[in-house]
Amino acid sequence: MAKNDLLGRWSINDSANLYGVKDWGAGYFDLSPKGEVVVRAKFPGSSPVDVSLIDIISGIRERGMGMPVLLRIENLLDSQISQLNESFRHAIKAFKYKGTYQGVFPIKVNQQAQVIEEVARFGERFNHGLEAGSKAELVIALSMINSTKSLIVCNGFKDEEFIDLGLYAVSMGYKCFFVIETPAELKIVLERSKALGVRPLIGIRLKLSSRSSGHWQDSGGDSSIFGLTTNQMVDVIDTLKAENMLDCLQLLHYHLGSQIPNIRDIRSAVRETARYYADLVREGAAMGYIDLGGGLAVDYDGSQTNFVHSKNYSLAEYCADVIEVIMEILDEHEVCHPTIITESGRATVAYSSILLFNVLDTNLFQAGPIPEELPPESPELLENLWLVRETLNLKNVQECYNDAIYYREEIREQFKVGNITLRQRALSDNIFIDIIHKIAESLDKLKRVPRELVGLQDVLFDIYYGNFSVFQSLPDAWAIDQIFPLMPIHRLLEEPNRRAILADITCDSDGKIDKFADLHDVRRTIPVHSLKDEEEYFIGVFLVGAYQETLGDLHNLLGDTNVVSIRINENGSFDFVREIEGDSIWDVLSYVEYEPKVLVAKFRDKAEAAVKAGTISVAQRREIVSAFEASIRGYTYYEN
Ligand SMILES: *Cc1c(COP(=O)(O)O)cnc(C)c1O
Repeated sequence: MAKNDLLGRWSINDSANLYGVKDWGAGYFDLSPKGEVVVRAKFPGSSPVDVSLIDIISGIRERGMGMPVLLRIENLLDSQISQLNESFRHAIKAFKYKGTYQGVFPIKVNQQAQVIEEVARFGERFNHGLEAGSKAELVIALSMINSTKSLIVCNGFKDEEFIDLGLYAVSMGYKCFFVIETPAELKIVLERSKALGVRPLIGIRLKLSSRSSGHWQDSGGDSSIFGLTTNQMVDVIDTLKAENMLDCLQLLHYHLGSQIPNIRDIRSAVRETARYYADLVREGAAMGYIDLGGGLAVDYDGSQTNFVHSKNYSLAEYCADVIEVIMEILDEHEVCHPTIITESGRATVAYSSILLFNVLDTNLFQAGPIPEELPPESPELLENLWLVRETLNLKNVQECYNDAIYYREEIREQFKVGNITLRQRALSDNIFIDIIHKIAESLDKLKRVPRELVGLQDVLFDIYYGNFSVFQSLPDAWAIDQIFPLMPIHRLLEEPNRRAILADITCDSDGKIDKFADLHDVRRTIPVHSLKDEEEYFIGVFLVGAYQETLGDLHNLLGDTNVVSIRINENGSFDFVREIEGDSIWDVLSYVEYEPKVLVAKFRDKAEAAVKAGTISVAQRREIVSAFEASIRGYTYYEN
C-alpha cells in the first residue's frame, strides 16, 4: 500500500484511495484531517460544511439511542432533487428544447413517511411529484402532494377503488395520470369516469423491445410482464377514438428497469419511445407527456463503468442524451416537444441514508500460541508439520505449502479416529495457520508466484462481527448481491492492518458481507483496523437510501433499526430533526402474532412455580421477572 505522506507515514489520502470515497461519494463524503468520514453539505453562495459521522454518533449516543442506526441526511436528498431538476433545466436550455421537465418520485423506492415528506417538501419548488404503484401508495401521494402542478403517476394494477380515488383527485384539479398496463384496465377507467362524470388523464405503458443489461433487465424488453403490446396499443387508440376520448390520452410511459449502467441502453429506449410518441400524435391523441420511468443509476463502486453496480454516464450526460434523442426524432416528425417525466427513485434517495454500526467482536485468522519446542511425545505427523515450519524459506514455498496441507489433513483424519487429542489438534491448527501466514507474506518477495498460491492473501481474512442484520438493513446485499460502499468511519490516519469479511449478529451463514466495491473488481475482503481495548470501532455502509428500508425482513426477529435524521446548517452545526426508535422485542413479537402481555404473564407463572418448588426466592423472582420485562421492552440489537 502506497504511503504518500512526506515522512512516509500512512495519510488520509491513502485511506481515501483505499476505500474509494471520492469515487463513490459524489462529493457528499470525504475524510477529515482527523481521519474521520465527513458528510458534506453544500450551500449556494457559501462554502460547504463538513460534519463528522463520529460527531453525529456521539450526539445520537447522548440522546440515549444505541447502534445500529440508520442515519438520514436531509441535505443530501434535497441536493439530489435539485440536481436532477436543474440538470434537466440546463439541458433543456442548452438544446433549446421547447418542453419542460417534471420528475416524479416512485414511492416504492423508499416509502418511509419521513422520506416522502422530505421529497414532497424539497420537490415542491420544482413541482416534483410522486409515482404510485398501488392503492396504498396513491393514498400517500394524494395526501402528501401540495401543488396541483405536480404530477401523480399511477402505475400497477388498478381496481375500481384505485381508479375512483384517482378520478376524485382529477376532479379536484390534480394532474393524476392512470398508466394503462393491461387492456382490461382501460375498460374500468372508462366505466368509472362515466359513472363519476370525470374525464380521466390517461397514459399507456409501452413494452419496449430495447433492453437494459443491468440487474432488472427483465422488467423492460419483450419479456417484460408489464406494458401493452403494439396490438393492444392500437386497440386502446381505437377504443378511445370510438368513445371520443383521444384528448384524454396524454402520456406515454415505459420503465426499462432499475440501475441501468449503460447509457447506450438508455438512448436506445428513449429513441424507440419517441418513435411511438410521434405516431400516437399522428393517431390524434392529445399527448403532451413522455415518461421515461426509472433506471437512472447510482455508481456504487465509483468505477464509472457499465458494470452492474456502476454507470458509465453522468447526470448531465443522461439529461443531455434524453433531450437530444427526443428532439431529434420528434423534430423529424414535426411533433411538439412534450413535458419529459422521469421516475428516478434510486438516484434520488440512495445517497441520503447511511447504516452505522459498531463492531462487537472479531474472529482473527491468526495462529494461537506456539511453544518454543514441540511437547514431548507428540505424534509423528505433528513433528512433520513442525519441521515444515522450521524449513520454510523463499525457495521451497510451494513444497512447504503442499506438505502443510497434507499433514494438516492427515492430522484431522487421525483426530477423527481418536489417535490425536484435542490439544494436539489445536497446536497443529496453530502451526498450520502460522505457516500459511508466513507463505502469504513471502509471496511479495517472489519473482514468480506459483499459480496455486495466487490470491492466498485473500483467504487469510478475519471475521468482524457487526451489530446489524443484513436481512433487515441491507436486503439487496443478500438477495441480489448488491454492493454498497462500506468503510470504517474513523481511525483513517492509521493504516488498516487486517483484512476482514463482515458477519452480522444473526449468525446465519448468509448473514454476512463478503463482496466489496472496488474500482477494478469486486473484492472479497475489506481492509480494517485491529480493535483497541476500550474503544469502539464503527463502520458505515453508504448509499443505502434506496430499496433497503422496506424490503427488510425480521430474520431472527431483529427488527427495524433506530432511525435518526439530521439537517446540516450553513453555520456548521447540525440539528436532529427526527428520531424514530427502532422496533422493540415487544414490537417484533407482535408482528408475528405473539401477545407480549401474555408472554410476560406466562413467564411470571413459571417464576412463581419456581418459588413454590424452592429453586428461587421471592426476591430472586422479582429480579428475574423484571429482567424479562426489561428485555421484552428493549431494542432487538446488541445493547451495550
Ligand atoms: C421501480 C420503479 C421505478 C424506480 O426506478 P429507479 O431505477 O429506482 O429510478 C420507476 N418506475 C417504475 C414503474 C418502477 O416500477
